[in-house]
Amino acid sequence: MMENMEFVSLTVPPTEILTGSSWWFAIQEDRILIQQDPGGTTMPLLKDPAELGLPILRQHYLGQLAGSDCFAVEVGKGAGPPANMRFEGLRQVYGLMGEGAFALAGRALQIVDWDRTHKFCGRCGSKTRIHLTERAKECPQCGLLHFPRLAPAIIVLIQRDREVLLARGRRFESPMYSTLAGFVEPGETLEQAVVREVKEESGITVKDIRYFGSQPWPFPHSLMIGFTANYASGEITLNDGENVDVRWFTADNLPQLPDKMSIARKLIDSFLERQASPPHPRGE
Ligand SMILES: [Zn+2]
Repeated sequence: MMENMEFVSLTVPPTEILTGSSWWFAIQEDRILIQQDPGGTTMPLLKDPAELGLPILRQHYLGQLAGSDCFAVEVGKGAGPPANMRFEGLRQVYGLMGEGAFALAGRALQIVDWDRTHKFCGRCGSKTRIHLTERAKECPQCGLLHFPRLAPAIIVLIQRDREVLLARGRRFESPMYSTLAGFVEPGETLEQAVVREVKEESGITVKDIRYFGSQPWPFPHSLMIGFTANYASGEITLNDGENVDVRWFTADNLPQLPDKMSIARKLIDSFLERQASPPHPRGE
């Protein structure tokens, strides 16, 4: 039910107080509270978070979803959630509610996590406080601002004729293959990060780097920036120890792939669509 609602991000509640119920994104450690209704799974929509019966440790305003206020709160351990509610991992939220709710849940979790891991100034060690107008924590002693952490990472699908380059990461729990990815370094453009990561992880040089799309990836605070690229030169070599295997695959001989929710899978699916319907020049 939350899927088709429009979300407006706000740091400070508007002066006009909304009197209806609000959406509460309640985080306990690294899990989020969901509500099971006869009509489906949703987040709790409540007038007062006290209805949850859980101690509220910190609270942040997120914005408005279809005209209702949204809050992220960290809750402590109490007697347990109300009867029709339970805590779930973020990945499960996607399966139960879809991309819109997953994005908001990820936003709530990251803001709560940033707040609880930036209690003290990284420069002078003083206790920080919430900035009044910005999504920031400021140091009252030295003035340093601490913003929510966001780590940009590139992810790239590399094609060579009818083949795609996929890698099996050392840290993957299942025998799955995915597109190459890595964090952007300070001072680097996204395109330079693509070239460097691909070279490091596969030994291959790429060309025709094109933007594909992006996806917030709150595990714990990445922003995945997707690209497609074509093979230019080189042979596969496993240099940096991040992967146990890197290989070319054709559409009819694919290994186990990442979950549908990931941009990696969306990149691979776009390759498969191109393979299924090769472009025909007009008039042919
Ligand atoms: Zn300071």
